[in-house]
Amino acid sequence: MKKIAFFCIPATGHTNPMLPVAAELVKRGNVVRFYSFDEFKEKIEATGAEFISCTRFLPELTAEEEQNLKNVSTTEMAIQDIRATRAMDEYLDGEFKSFQPDVVYTDSACFWGKLNAWKHKVPMVVSTSTFAFNQLSSKYMKNSPRELYDMIAGLPKISKELKTLRPLGYEVKSALSLVQSDNNTDSVVYTTRAFQPYAESFSECYAFVGPSVFSKAQPQKNKKRPLVYISMGTVINERPDFYNKCIDALKDMNVDVIISCGKAMDRKLLGTLPANVKAYPSVDQLDVLSKASAFITHCGMNSVSESLYMAAPMVLYPQTGEQYAVARKAAEIGAGTMLKDDSAEGIAKAVRTILDNDAYQKAADACSKDFRSAPGTKGAADFIENAPHKAGGVDLLKELNKAKGLFTLCYWAVITSLILLFGFLVGWQFVWIIGVAGGVLSRPITNIASGYLYKGLVKKHFPKK
Ligand code: UDP
Repeated sequence: MKKIAFFCIPATGHTNPMLPVAAELVKRGNVVRFYSFDEFKEKIEATGAEFISCTRFLPELTAEEEQNLKNVSTTEMAIQDIRATRAMDEYLDGEFKSFQPDVVYTDSACFWGKLNAWKHKVPMVVSTSTFAFNQLSSKYMKNSPRELYDMIAGLPKISKELKTLRPLGYEVKSALSLVQSDNNTDSVVYTTRAFQPYAESFSECYAFVGPSVFSKAQPQKNKKRPLVYISMGTVINERPDFYNKCIDALKDMNVDVIISCGKAMDRKLLGTLPANVKAYPSVDQLDVLSKASAFITHCGMNSVSESLYMAAPMVLYPQTGEQYAVARKAAEIGAGTMLKDDSAEGIAKAVRTILDNDAYQKAADACSKDFRSAPGTKGAADFIENAPHKAGGVDLLKELNKAKGLFTLCYWAVITSLILLFGFLVGWQFVWIIGVAGGVLSRPITNIASGYLYKGLVKKHFPKK
């Protein structure tokens, strides 16, 4: 029996996958204390874990800060995370002294969970509700210029906030060390190695357990009158413009439509609904997906995982860089099509593509099989109970960086030789052109080489792949 402290930020997509894990750990006789927020009280108590409210520690937000959070500004999220950590400091010091957890299970974006595990020297396992991101897999993201500006412009503000944590005993090297896990950080990821980009570059400290879901439902699709489900998740979901276009696209099709439009949106904005369309503030998503033949999704990691678990192929409509990464992988395995044209005609065409082409359903079926054979919540619970783990095996990322270093050295040796050769044989006047060309091409060439080097390393160390 272990005492396990769960920490998560106030976000449905991050909290949901931790719930079945909490239930499994409680079932095994562990004591689970879940530090969370009032909106999740009922769901957490239903797992048998002890719910501890941290709502009073959340900083009061200005209208601008609230808007930034709604727009998923990573800078604002980091700043509010740090402020909440400060506000909880004294309280959590007391909790760690009285509860004395054996393990901390914390969401990857929850700074106070990670920082307190380090401060109180308790083994930590990170709950990763997206893909695991490292220097390779983060290439799957396609951040918009607004997201990139937000990240770069926000760095000095975040550094300033981070400094306020040091006097409280939190050792923080950088903002990056707080958001990225390395190959020595025990992490649970709610997908399989087959669906994780660059899976081989993650050490044995990563447990890819597959989607964490409560549902025992099996996929059951109505082929004669397919169900189309639409959701933009729980964060940026006030999108009456988009839902109305979906309604226009689908109202005359031989399909039933369910829209989950979020609790904040006024449903009157959708007008009088056609007979085949129903809209709700929130639905039992797993249940709906088990019956859905197509899912128009914003590509949150949970939504896509749940969709594949329930074998529902998707129309992929990502809104952030991270969601783009998930969408890209779903499209790569053939279980979805990207929505490039989000007009009513474009939506109708994309839904037709999914419904009329059996290949999408087959790819979703195959992925569902893979997800259902993964270790799941039991595997996550085993991993947490047995933490800390040793990385062991080969660190592919380290090997790749070494090989890349060697390649860069050779590349510049070739460029230097070319400069010397050209200088001696032709003349020195224009050698600068070779230097400039070498500089400009170095990045794309290194990137291409890195792809080949990675494939070579995978072949060497994982010959079965
Ligand atoms: N969800 C739900 N009912 C709804 C809409 C969403 O239960 O009507 C759940 C869904 O099952 C998923 C989570 O909310 O577990 C959304 O997480 P995701 O990562 O997909 O997106 P986010 O909301 O974080 O953008």
